[in-house]
Amino acid sequence: MIDIKSLTLPELQEEMEKIGEKKFRAGQIYEWMHVKLVDSFDEMTNLSKGLREKLKEQYELISLELVEVQTSKIDETSKFLFRLSDGNVIESVLMKYHHGNSVCISSQVGCRMGCRFCASTLDGLERGLKPSEMLDQIYKIQKWSQERVHNVVVMGTGEPFDNFESLCRMIELLCSPDGLNISHRNITVSTCGIVPKIYEFADRNPQVTLAISLHSPNDTMRRELMPIANKYSMDELMEAARYYTRTTGRRITFEYSLVKGVNDKKEHAQELISRVKGMNCHINLIPVNPIKERNFVQSDKKVIENFKNKLEKYGINVTIRREMGADIDGACGQLRKSFIDKSNEQP
Ligand code: SAH
Repeated sequence: MIDIKSLTLPELQEEMEKIGEKKFRAGQIYEWMHVKLVDSFDEMTNLSKGLREKLKEQYELISLELVEVQTSKIDETSKFLFRLSDGNVIESVLMKYHHGNSVCISSQVGCRMGCRFCASTLDGLERGLKPSEMLDQIYKIQKWSQERVHNVVVMGTGEPFDNFESLCRMIELLCSPDGLNISHRNITVSTCGIVPKIYEFADRNPQVTLAISLHSPNDTMRRELMPIANKYSMDELMEAARYYTRTTGRRITFEYSLVKGVNDKKEHAQELISRVKGMNCHINLIPVNPIKERNFVQSDKKVIENFKNKLEKYGINVTIRREMGADIDGACGQLRKSFIDKSNEQP
């Protein structure tokens, strides 16, 4: 069955013509799915019953099932666990900032990138998400909160550039003026650094903000933390990052998770400075979120401050990521992982 929520409006128009319906029906259906955010064909009340039945027979309307929500008492951050139609579960996060609501979505079920500190990759990759499954995380959260989503960050479980076509299609649908009409500038995609895709993405989505997970200032250390670094060197990665800023004129974000005694020393800050000097970039320092399967420890507050100060001294834009929802479920992928582990324990 065709996944109707993943079709663009022109594609949907073609579909309507194919099944012998008027073209304008596509606009109505598109609006029900992407603006009114309904979950079933039966809610599309300006379509005849006959047409609704026809749609049900030929098209699948993807709608995620909300399994669990945890809301932080500290900052109102909420984590959502959704079940997909094949039974897999994924997680998303809603963060409330003064500049608007931001939703962090997953791009895959699991992940095969193998980053050592990350919970999402522990059980490997199950599959990439369909565009509709990425979108519906945002739609369900907007409905749940009854507030407009302003920003979308693709920083949940999965490597978005390992699901590239679906990612680009999702962005197209999300930014469509006939849909939620989110601005490209309000979308951030985070990658572990799949170099050829950085070039392709720059050419195809020049307004989207790109974040690159760096986490180390040199190849030796990066290879220990992130297997992808065996495939692409830091030189290649930084060259791609420069291409991105040149082509798009947009500032790039480098994510750097600080792990105690591993990548948080003075000399690492110094090396990082020489890597990014002169680039139109911003460095986001993330105190590593410990996961129980690995023994990485967060750097001390003082060490993090010193690291930041050193970068700032060289005129580099740097922030320490605020820990949101610290009282709910730790690191990325942990809510999903603990849910799966719990389900497996039950007889
Ligand atoms: N695969 C993409 C996006 C998902 S991860 C990427 O690698 O960028 C989003 C960010 O969280 C990445 O920077 C990732 O390295 C980081 N991250 C993952 N697990 C973490 C942990 N336990 N503590 C801190 N940051 C973590």
